[in-house]
Amino acid sequence: MKGRKLLMIPGPIEFEPEVLQAMSIATDSHVSPNFIEVFGNSLELMRKVWKSPKGQPFIISGTGTLAMDMAVSNLIEKGDAVLVISSGYFGKRFKDILECYGAHTTILEAPVGEVVSLDEIEKELKSKQYKALTITHVDTSTGVLIDPKPISELAKKYNTLSILDGVCSVAGEKINQDDWGIDIVLTASQKAIGVPPGLALLMVSEKAIQVWKNRKTPVGNYYADWKNWLPIMKAYEERRPSYFGTPPVNLIVALEVSLKIICEEGIDKRIKRHQNLAEAFRLGIDALHLKRLPVTNELAAHTLSAIYYPEGVDGASLSAKMNASNVIIAGGLLSDIKSTYFRIGHMGAISASDILSVLGALERALIELGIPIESGKSLQAFQNKLIQM
Ligand SMILES: *Cc1c(COP(=O)(O)O)cnc(C)c1O
Repeated sequence: MKGRKLLMIPGPIEFEPEVLQAMSIATDSHVSPNFIEVFGNSLELMRKVWKSPKGQPFIISGTGTLAMDMAVSNLIEKGDAVLVISSGYFGKRFKDILECYGAHTTILEAPVGEVVSLDEIEKELKSKQYKALTITHVDTSTGVLIDPKPISELAKKYNTLSILDGVCSVAGEKINQDDWGIDIVLTASQKAIGVPPGLALLMVSEKAIQVWKNRKTPVGNYYADWKNWLPIMKAYEERRPSYFGTPPVNLIVALEVSLKIICEEGIDKRIKRHQNLAEAFRLGIDALHLKRLPVTNELAAHTLSAIYYPEGVDGASLSAKMNASNVIIAGGLLSDIKSTYFRIGHMGAISASDILSVLGALERALIELGIPIESGKSLQAFQNKLIQM
């Protein structure tokens, strides 16, 4: 489509045409045999993407924040101690949600672009009994990637539940939920899962379901209570009609299409594609002498990049220039330094050609804004890396 914009923000992202087409078919009844099959299939496919054959999947109408809210409201009771491991904006959101349900939170905050060390986490877990800890796999505000595996191992060692915010990582970064022993991995449809906004998706371990069943007090949230949704998920998986709240039929039809595309590509291959494109993109950014927020390459996410503006360039002018080249980018999100950086999403159905368009538009924009760079440098760095891979 001529003049079509490339949506390169960290969600919503560029969607596969088949996914968008699925959104537009006539809406079926939520209890029709066809739709029951689609819903049941989607639940089963989620287990493959999460690598959680034993997990209990939930598909709920809502955003990623509802998925976080659902994890907290079902597992946490008033007075429970919860450790929040934060590398940005979305770590703090977990703290807010936890406090809303009366949890006593301790937050370990990493400096911008860094992660909290395992030593610090272990020291905290040793100091008192935490019921749960939260991890943000990729904090979308900083583009920092955390390795959840050693943290979930620590959680197990100290008999603490682990909750992973995978909103910017599921289907884009490596996740082995069952092997790593993570109790909840949650996401939203509009990020690497590749479906327009509107679905909260969770995978819950048997242990977490048990902890929920053994609660002393009722869940303080009517809509999010697993009591209402668990029977619905079980019914769809057993291909039986059921009702609690009307599911977003078209979104779930699109979800099944996207999950099939993900599984056809193969989850490991898909993660590798994200890694390769992200690595080559980073070299392109480095060739423009731009500084990225994550302090090392190991800490850089493969689903998005957070990049400081060069001195003398303001955000509004850069994004206007990019926009004129049909590339939409996102501004900063961390309140203290919001105006000093921008973000480019590169997850889901993204190709090398899309990234070349982005680097090309970025080079032209920076040159027009008076930054002394040589045109073609970032494209060359990107291409060379990709050719080597
Ligand atoms: C986008 C995002 C969220 C919030 O998701 P919404 O769908 O906007 O509610 C939470 N955590 C992370 C890591 C995200 O990237």
